[in-house]
Amino acid sequence: MTWRADILTLFPAMFPGPLGESLAGKALADQTWSLKITDIRDFGLGRHRSVDDTPFGGGAGMVMRPDVVDAAIGAVADDRPLIMLTPRGAPLTQKRVRELAAGPGAILLCGRFEGIDQRVIEARAAEEISIGDYILSGGELAALVLLDAVIRLLPGVMGAAESAEEESFSTLLLEYPHYTRPAVWAGRAVPEILTSGNHRAIAAWRHAAAAQATKIRRPDLYDQYIASGAPAP
Ligand code: SAH
Repeated sequence: MTWRADILTLFPAMFPGPLGESLAGKALADQTWSLKITDIRDFGLGRHRSVDDTPFGGGAGMVMRPDVVDAAIGAVADDRPLIMLTPRGAPLTQKRVRELAAGPGAILLCGRFEGIDQRVIEARAAEEISIGDYILSGGELAALVLLDAVIRLLPGVMGAAESAEEESFSTLLLEYPHYTRPAVWAGRAVPEILTSGNHRAIAAWRHAAAAQATKIRRPDLYDQYIASGAPAP
């Protein structure tokens, strides 16, 4: 079954962009997922197809009109989750990515200017998602990031079935570091245990390395990991 992505944007030419390449591009060609772009400008008002107006209450910038955005949503809405990309949203997590990948698809609403009139976000019960604590100039790159994370989890997209299991965040830990040939490079040897062939010892080393990296780099995640009752390294 095809995972269906709909994008509502003022910049249709930004899609599929990077998602036309590599794994995602192949999966798009295979119809593992599909992409439909709706140009919000098509629903703009008047001779100039106007989509925005000045903010009530004053302040800088322009706000996308609720009537225009609502008409664009109405053209594609169905039972799929409707997601508005916004820095005011809940942070995107691997857990939410997995849930989305298990569903029928998603409708992604990309803001521009100062954002979208809040009434249409509420009226359409859109889920507000942020990809991080920084401000992009539009929701398009955020939508591409979300889609990239989802698409690689769709059945058949990634090579080895298990490669998604051990990754950072699936266990509340960052991933262990990776090494490949040559075994000695620029005077640096790979950790000896990795060439030992002792799979139990390697698994234990990797777990300890993952826990150590998480403790130092992401104490917030490490606290969650310990609180989850998982074994301390
Ligand atoms: N004035 C807004 C920022 C608007 S940026 C504020 O301060 O909150 C314009 C658009 O870019 C937003 O409507 C949103 O769709 C998108 N955007 C910017 N940063 C984002 C982020 N971190 N995550 C998701 N979308 C983002």
